[in-house]
Amino acid sequence: MKAVQLISQGVPGVLKYHDVPDPIAAPGEVLVRVKACGLNRLDLWFEEGGLPVPPQLPRIPGGEISGEVLSLGAGVSEWKPGDRVAIQSNLFCGQCEFCLRGEESICLKGQLLGVQRDGGFAELIAVPASALVKLPDNVAFETAAALTLASSTAMHMLANRAKVRQGDWVLVIGGNSGVGAGAIQIAKELGAYVISTGSTEAKRTVATSLGAHHVVDSSQSNWPELVRNITQKRGVDIIVEHVGGEVLQKCFTCLARGGTIVTCGATAGRDVALNLWPLFVKEQKLIGSYGRNRADISTVLEWAANGKIKAVIDKIFPLAETREAYNALRERRVLGKVVIRP
Ligand SMILES: [Zn+2]
Repeated sequence: MKAVQLISQGVPGVLKYHDVPDPIAAPGEVLVRVKACGLNRLDLWFEEGGLPVPPQLPRIPGGEISGEVLSLGAGVSEWKPGDRVAIQSNLFCGQCEFCLRGEESICLKGQLLGVQRDGGFAELIAVPASALVKLPDNVAFETAAALTLASSTAMHMLANRAKVRQGDWVLVIGGNSGVGAGAIQIAKELGAYVISTGSTEAKRTVATSLGAHHVVDSSQSNWPELVRNITQKRGVDIIVEHVGGEVLQKCFTCLARGGTIVTCGATAGRDVALNLWPLFVKEQKLIGSYGRNRADISTVLEWAANGKIKAVIDKIFPLAETREAYNALRERRVLGKVVIRP
């Protein structure tokens, strides 16, 4: 089959588009014909060697996969050839104490598809049957590949971790990103008032089109003040944060008493100085969110089928042009998601 392999890490790393042997579905696994695969920041971190995971190269990256079941490994009976599926990228064991509670996102033996195991920038992929989620008939493969990872991350952050309530003020950092675009729509659907940040006019227009009630220019150094002003100085109840560094520090300025910052990324820095005094005096919470559970993916795909959430796709690249897709995302030349189609 044709596939893109990461041969060596770097900025940029060496990505090679070439022929590799077809994967084989082991017992309990399913062979899937990849129809589309979203590109994410995670793929860039892996390319750059920025993940705290020892690389095993060469590796086929790509974790946001949709496709069609092609054949079944031994012992798999719940799927059949031709089934349309999305794939959960955080593989889980199904047996540890956390999996047994439905918290696959913090599985003790969790593995990242496209990092610790070959991913979806390929014509075929073999994955555990437990990683498949049914794709509703009216959700296009490209839509699924733009929502399965990013928006289910946002769903996990808002519905599972921060538990947004009707009437909450929610601030979404970077509403044009994959997680941000999902978070605006999910928070609004759950009854929140949504403020989004965006660094350019075009990105702010995307946030508005997705339903953000207010949009703030994050290229202004006083953007936290602008957020406070929108809430009459009260601050917001929940902040969806995925940048880290100074942005995370500034988020505390926007946070109401009793408010929660939920974070799932640290592109701008993992070490953040924290002033504990306002944190405990105002009874605020800083909580982590990692990946997603099956329930989060199923909900996102169901919402996509019902028109409650839409994918924002900037461009679809053929597999042979995966390198160009990486460059576009790294250079922030995209409005919405970048999807690869084998
Ligand atoms: Zn587990």
